[in-house]
Amino acid sequence: MINTLLICGGGGSEHQVSLRTADFIERQLCELEEVALERVEMDGNGRLTDRHGQVRRLDQDRMLRDENGGAWEVHYVIPAIHGYPGETGDLQSLLDLFGIPYYGCGPEASKICFNKVTTKLWLSALGIDNTPYQYLSSREPEELAKASMALEEWGQVFVKASNQGSSVGCYKVSSTQELDRALEQAFALSPYVLVEKCLKVRELEVAVYPYEGKLVITPPGEVCAPAGSFYSYEEKYSDASRAVTHVEAPGLSEAQVSWIHEAARRAFVGLQLKDLSRIDFFLTESGEIYLNEVNTFPGMTSISMFPKMMAHAGHDFRRYMANLIRAAVNRQS
Ligand code: ADP
Ligand code: MG
Ligand code: MG
Repeated sequence: MINTLLICGGGGSEHQVSLRTADFIERQLCELEEVALERVEMDGNGRLTDRHGQVRRLDQDRMLRDENGGAWEVHYVIPAIHGYPGETGDLQSLLDLFGIPYYGCGPEASKICFNKVTTKLWLSALGIDNTPYQYLSSREPEELAKASMALEEWGQVFVKASNQGSSVGCYKVSSTQELDRALEQAFALSPYVLVEKCLKVRELEVAVYPYEGKLVITPPGEVCAPAGSFYSYEEKYSDASRAVTHVEAPGLSEAQVSWIHEAARRAFVGLQLKDLSRIDFFLTESGEIYLNEVNTFPGMTSISMFPKMMAHAGHDFRRYMANLIRAAVNRQS
């Protein structure tokens, strides 16, 4: 039996989304005979509670302890946390220190990709086109002036907190008043901020993962935000979402698909990603393609694209997880 600990929740704005991702993973894994699954939820202070509300603690000797002296040896961890401290790589550092294998990217790749600024630096280093932007390191007047200039030059911009996901801290801005407000909100969430050129785009994404020894990059899927809006938190997760998704984007040329596949492969390999990622692209009206972001722990709710694209590619999530868990635990022993 492989004792597998599913850790969900976390201290970020995506705590609730993470619980839904964990539900999905749990439903898949509970049918695997060789896996014994425990699920704990982490709060903003790193405290773990189990399904019965009992406090649990993961110790350096890889034991998950409860308050009554019970201990369960952990062989594998699934850090199903969007945002801090899972998708940011902090939890993975601790697991490396404890010597417990886990699902997904290591600390460094996680940290780089979660931060929208470092992602861009790495993409540029890898020669992968990404959206034009300005970087604001503080709220000093000369930094804020860069944002005003960007708005003037580009007409419409996206202001983004550098360290959030699920569109939290992401604002579409068309006027000076909106800009001031967006900057204030973004800086409240993050010590530095990106101001990006707003592009009229189609949003395409691929799931990337190893399957049966091969790196799979799925056909690009598409998310269509409702007209006049963008793919905001609401549109991503609310039941009233008006966003439409396609597991396979219609009408792309072969050249566009292969451009996306090549960029996704270069990003996955170059950033040293592992096990999974959802890589998102913008396709502009004039046919340019930009890599928007790399998600090292994409959402896996019932409406999320990663599991849907994997299923569409004909791959079984259960088999995929079973292989990863088995391989990681074998490497360990
Ligand atoms: P997150 O990590 O929060 O998902 P994104 O960078 O993907 O952040 O931005 C969230 C959404 O905002 C995107 O899915 C897209 O709808 C919109 N968006 C972000 N940047 C731009 C841009 N430069 N031009 C047009 N739309 C954008
Ligand atoms: Mg993101
Ligand atoms: Mg996104």
